Amino acid sequence: MSAAPRIGFVSLGCPKALVDSERILSRLRAEGYETAADYAGADVVVVNTCGFLDSAREESLDAIGEALAENGRVIVTGCLGVHADLIRARHPGVLAVTGPHRYEEVIAAIHDACPPPHAPYADLIPPQGIRLTPRHYAYVKISEGCNHRCSFCIIPSLRGPLVSRTATDVLEEAERLVRAGVRELLVISQDTSAYGVDLKYAPFEWRGRNLRTRLTDLADALGELGAWVRLHYVYPYPHVDELIPLMAEGKVLPYLDIPFQHASPRILKAMRRPATDEKTLERIRAWRDAVPSLTLRSSFIVGFPGETGADFEYLLEWLDEAELDRVGCFRYEAVDGAASNALPDPVPAPVIEERWHRLMAAQQAISARRLARLVGTRIEAIVDRVEEDRIVARSKGDAPEIDGNVYLPRIDGIRPGAIVEVEVEDSDEYDLYASPVLDDVRVAS
Ligand code: SF4
Repeated sequence: MSAAPRIGFVSLGCPKALVDSERILSRLRAEGYETAADYAGADVVVVNTCGFLDSAREESLDAIGEALAENGRVIVTGCLGVHADLIRARHPGVLAVTGPHRYEEVIAAIHDACPPPHAPYADLIPPQGIRLTPRHYAYVKISEGCNHRCSFCIIPSLRGPLVSRTATDVLEEAERLVRAGVRELLVISQDTSAYGVDLKYAPFEWRGRNLRTRLTDLADALGELGAWVRLHYVYPYPHVDELIPLMAEGKVLPYLDIPFQHASPRILKAMRRPATDEKTLERIRAWRDAVPSLTLRSSFIVGFPGETGADFEYLLEWLDEAELDRVGCFRYEAVDGAASNALPDPVPAPVIEERWHRLMAAQQAISARRLARLVGTRIEAIVDRVEEDRIVARSKGDAPEIDGNVYLPRIDGIRPGAIVEVEVEDSDEYDLYASPVLDDVRVAS
């Protein structure tokens, strides 16, 4: 019997692209394909690309070039796939190019390049699908696309309008994940708060409860599965306030990832941001009053066209008052196809650079202040890795890959996925240093 065909897979970009990769790999495994650990062992290589920023496009084009040089048989998919002409101009040797969410097309291209084995066993795939994340956490994508038209963003043209998954579909996937050992569910989409708008908040029944297809009901039901539930990409629409009681009850992690992007009303208007509201600072205060342990994460863009020194100072003052716990900052990039490219008064690159450094330094001080408050308290942490001389964990306020860590001394018996009560002993700008409270170690099964 001939060996199963082997697919090499390079997954670039954001967690949403990662979920696409998992979906493609799950389907391939179900059909009897295997994955190759290196280029040499692959019959064909799939590169799932990112096309958001110019720098990400370059990284994707380089990855395609590397796969071609190392293997020679390459299929391209993902966000950059909408620019097939660009890819083929740089790399005429690619076998096929498909865009984001074109699962059927990419699978068909793989079948053409490397036919599936005869009579694959239907049960080769685990019920929770193939995951590229560690066993104890998983991303759950609840919708695709976006109905907004932020002027710097080309995602709506890459990914189309909002299409929500049904709540039952999401909840069944989440249940399978929890059964398979996942202890933290990371809810993602382009615009998590808009979940269900396209389905007109359709009613559904779940475990004897009558619910509607909207974020608060979905979060509530996810919160009953027994895993940590972390919400990403939440825009501050009024109904976001309804999530706060779920956090107070412990159903959803006290963590909100809200991409504010700026604070100056003038710049927010030019950015065409959804749900911007001058009362945001008041709302943040109210959220923190209700849930004192709330961690707020956000991202910002500096150097947006027309951003004056006064706009930037406004942003710094706003940040100082908002005291967000975690902040990512991007230097404005004129992404090909974005409406903001046509705006007047571009900010010179050295000014953008200087503003970026100032914002990062200001936020570092805020972050250090926020974390220092935790010293001397007991918190829960989930273990990500056990290294030779230490354990790397995360608090409820730390999302994997993007936020800080909780470092613990190495203790035998604690494995990845364990949720441990720890006492915080020290902190710096981004991380905590703690010791486990040993009588409360709950090791993942
Ligand atoms: S909300 Fe704005 S930034 Fe986010 S995906 Fe939609 S258009 Fe892009």
